[in-house]
Amino acid sequence: MAILPPLPDDPLVVEVTDFAARHKLADRYRELDRNPAFPREEYRAMGRAGLLGLGTSTALGGRGLSLPQVGLALFHLVYRSGTVFGKLSIQPEFSSVLADHGSPELVEEWFRPMVRGDKVVGNQITEPGAGSDAQGMTLSATREGEGYVLTGEKSEVALCLDADAAIVYGRVPSEDPRGKVTAFLVPQDLAGITRDPSSGDLGERWQRRGLVTYDHVRVPLRYRLGEEGMGFEYLRTELTHDRALLAAIYLGAAYTSWEATVDYARQRTVFGKPLARQEAVSFSLAQDFARLSADWLYTLDALSRLERGEDAAAEAALVKWVAVEDGLRAIDHAIQFHGGRGYSQDLPHEQRWRDVRAGGIAHGPSEIMLVVAAHELRTRQTPAPPR
Ligand SMILES: Cc1cc2nc3c(=O)[nH]c(=O)nc-3n(C[C@H](O)[C@H](O)[C@H](O)COP(=O)(O)OP(=O)(O)OC[C@H]3O[C@@H](n4cnc5c(N)ncnc54)[C@H](O)[C@@H]3O)c2cc1C
Repeated sequence: MAILPPLPDDPLVVEVTDFAARHKLADRYRELDRNPAFPREEYRAMGRAGLLGLGTSTALGGRGLSLPQVGLALFHLVYRSGTVFGKLSIQPEFSSVLADHGSPELVEEWFRPMVRGDKVVGNQITEPGAGSDAQGMTLSATREGEGYVLTGEKSEVALCLDADAAIVYGRVPSEDPRGKVTAFLVPQDLAGITRDPSSGDLGERWQRRGLVTYDHVRVPLRYRLGEEGMGFEYLRTELTHDRALLAAIYLGAAYTSWEATVDYARQRTVFGKPLARQEAVSFSLAQDFARLSADWLYTLDALSRLERGEDAAAEAALVKWVAVEDGLRAIDHAIQFHGGRGYSQDLPHEQRWRDVRAGGIAHGPSEIMLVVAAHELRTRQTPAPPR
């Protein structure tokens, strides 16, 4: 399988490339930075075109593609548009806890409409006192009558203003003094919920992050996802898949900047010869190409392992880590080699840098990716060599 652009004959790549061109997504990407808002219209169009939930089973209204195919589609969609649309595309994957552990009625009511682009579901894990160490969360979910009462705060959350519902993790009191982490689907218009957007972000501004406060919010029993006390296990599985898919998004963004810089360096003359013939520039671009290509193959490997059902939590954490590190370096070179204009908002490289930079914190900071990988690799059972 050819993997890097140009890929003229891959039907999936052609499909996302055409969609991006038809809906002028590259322009929209720039506009959403200036006027941050959830792009409902494009989200709906993506849903109608089958571009939301590419990896979601056909039984749930998705396309049922394998994870490496989803990664390929994301890479090329982002390459032709921007990180925003890759992240929209995997909103259903971000909500796999709902798909996998919600009741059939809940899935019908919320998950399927999300895959069609009609509903938006966020994820609320982080709290003011618990981010990297998510196990430290304290939002309480107390059983009362035919449901639970949620009290506490969720901070830094994306789609704070735009999510119609969110998957919220809280602690149900138990013999363990910390309580049992449990997942709930919570419609965001329930009484007792307050949503306060933050003052604005460095990048990914369309996500409009903020603080959500739960003041004795009554959530019906049927909105619990799976078993009490299993929330963290469900979340861990989902985060692993999310991280590997996010790597494809960050690499797609970085590759766009790399390619534009190669084109520019061929045309721009400095000291009597093309910029591309200055070794300081051409060597950096060659190194970036090597890193991005290697990271992309590594990402496809991680996605293939996950597709086969292997435990690839380490690989998923590491591909997100390298994609962000190498992606940021490549985009930084794009800013640098475009000179004064590279630093300006006339060109999209600075926006891309800011957006990919989010990947060093969201879905677990880079240090936590190394903590996860180190733990997994330390404890992994090495298969015995074949006799
Ligand atoms: C763009 C974006 C979108 C987000 N969307 C969501 C969302 O939708 N839902 C949600 O729940 N949360 C979301 N978050 C929050 C994100 O998950 C947290 O910010 C992240 O987990 C870090 O938690 P924290 O902010 O509390 O930082 P802390 O946990 O206080 O950590 C601060 C820093 O310390 C370092 N650090 C932490 N632990 C270690 C360690 N063990 N070893 C070495 N260094 C360490 C890291 O550099 C880390 O960035 C989002 C964040 C961003 C930036």
